[in-house]
Amino acid sequence: MPEMFDPVGKDTIARNLQRVRDAIASAAAKSSRDPSAARLIAVTKYVRADEIRSLIQLGVTDFGESRVQDAEKKIRELGAAVHWHLIGHLQTNKAQKGAALFQTIHSVDSTRVAEALHKEAKKLTERGEIKTPPSCLLEVNVAGEANKFGMKPDSSEIHELLRVCSSFDGIRIAGLMAMAPHSENPEPVARPVFRRLRELLDEANAARVYPHPLTELSMGMTQDYAIAVEEGATMVRVGSALFEKS
Ligand SMILES: *Cc1c(COP(=O)(O)O)cnc(C)c1O
Repeated sequence: MPEMFDPVGKDTIARNLQRVRDAIASAAAKSSRDPSAARLIAVTKYVRADEIRSLIQLGVTDFGESRVQDAEKKIRELGAAVHWHLIGHLQTNKAQKGAALFQTIHSVDSTRVAEALHKEAKKLTERGEIKTPPSCLLEVNVAGEANKFGMKPDSSEIHELLRVCSSFDGIRIAGLMAMAPHSENPEPVARPVFRRLRELLDEANAARVYPHPLTELSMGMTQDYAIAVEEGATMVRVGSALFEKS
């Protein structure tokens, strides 16, 4: 985990946010996409509730956290007015909390995780504790990095998991998620990763293995979100760029 940032003032956050929104808009324009087609998810794992409040006041509606435990207090404090995304790995013993706290879960990478979420979400729905099934993305380890979670970038494995998930009505699979390898020069490294994820999404839709269209591509972080928008991201997960001091 990166270290927590020192508290960051609202003016700094506002300036950073504007810069990120502008970069998303120009990347969208470059690829003839509508700027609203790529949703900004503010990754707040480095900061406390105050900075999240600043972002809410500035109109940000989507927040990403890596760990259920770290997020729980913030989510309870800030309430359900915004949309919470779990972007980090989920252990099955946290599936109940994950399904209760997050509206979108970006890190489903096995039948076990999908089934655990489905079962817990169904119980929560029956008890009236959640209103809609959590939206889930299948995480794909496109670059095959040993230190990352995610499925192999293999169409038949992805299609098989989608087929299995067709019967898990407690959750709804909405698309795919990936992270590009860390790089000082992301252009040649990240672009092929994002392009491949998009192809995998197209292949899954063409194979009709899931009863609903898969529309979401969660890809891009501070180092490479502009590239991701150019390559079709519908969600970018940006943390550091929002909280840096300069
Ligand atoms: C931390 C994290 C991000 C945000 O990273 P930044 O480089 O700070 O923008 C995005 N996605 C995932 C999965 C993360 O864990």
